[in-house]
This record gives sequence, structure tokens and C-alpha cells, in this order.
Amino acid sequence: MDCIFCKIVAGEIPASKVYEDDKCLAFLDINPMMLGHTLLIPKRHAEFLTDIPQKDYAAIFSGIQKVVTGILKGLRVDGANVLQSNGKAAGQAVPHVHFHIVPRKRGDGLNFYPAKRAYSAEDLKQAEDAIREACGK
Ligand code: 5GP
Ligand code: ZN
Repeated sequence: MDCIFCKIVAGEIPASKVYEDDKCLAFLDINPMMLGHTLLIPKRHAEFLTDIPQKDYAAIFSGIQKVVTGILKGLRVDGANVLQSNGKAAGQAVPHVHFHIVPRKRGDGLNFYPAKRAYSAEDLKQAEDAIREACGK
């Protein structure tokens, strides 16, 4: 498969690895938002979060917890963001699930949260009902 992150898992292209276990691999982002910006990926190829087998979720989130802990302790930063995008519309450039784990310091100037939008009560209720119904399926 022509997937850059699968090639990193296979050792075909190099990466600065910081954590690895049976199910996941974490390595430094080649183009970091902050020093220590890390990507954690499931080793098994999946494009969207929804493509990951449910049985693998616990192991993946355990990997995320380990890397967040490693970043907080190892870099002595004040916090960390965990970000994950599904689909080009959401900004996903590499079609292999990856969690960005971004070290944060007070006043570092990064801002992932744009201005909020206002919606009518009717639109909000429709969205609430549609998501709740789909979650049950
Ligand atoms: P996305 O925009 O898909 O959420 O993020 C993809 C991330 O992968 C980007 O932050 C980009 O810098 C990183 N990236 C792309 N190609 C490589 C690579 O070959 N090696 C590493 N370490 N990071 C990569
Ligand atoms: Zn892949």
C-alpha cells in the first residue's frame, strides 16, 4: 500500500520514534507546531477513526496516555493537545489515522479554537436528535 505512515511502521522510511508497542507507534512530526509535537498512529492501516476495530481502541488510547505522560514529564510543559482529523474536509492530509499530541506552554500563542458560531434553537435541536439517533445504530 502506498501509505507514508505504513512505510514508517514497516521501517521503509525513517522516523524519530518515541514510543512503540504491539498496536501503536509514536514519532515526531516532521513539520512540528511545537518542539516535541508527536504523532501517534495505529500500526494497522485505517483511514478514519471509524475504520479502527473496536477491540483495538483500548490499546490505542493507552498509547496516547503514555505519550501525553511522556511529553508532560519529559519536556516539563504545562499541557498538551490531542487532535485527530477525519477526512480532507477536516484537514486530514495523511489518510492513515493519526493523533497529534502537541506540547503546550502557557502563553505559547497556539490557538486551535476559532470563533464560535450561532445557530437557531431549531437547528440545534435537529442536530442533537440526528446525532443521538445515529449513535444508537
Ligand atoms: P494531518 O494534516 O493529516 O492531520 O497531519 C499530517 C501530519 O503528518 C503533518 O503534521 C505532517 O507534518 C506530518 N507528516 C507528513 N509526512 C510525514 C513524514 O513522512 N514523517 C513525519 N514524521 N511526519 C509527517
Ligand atoms: Zn497506512
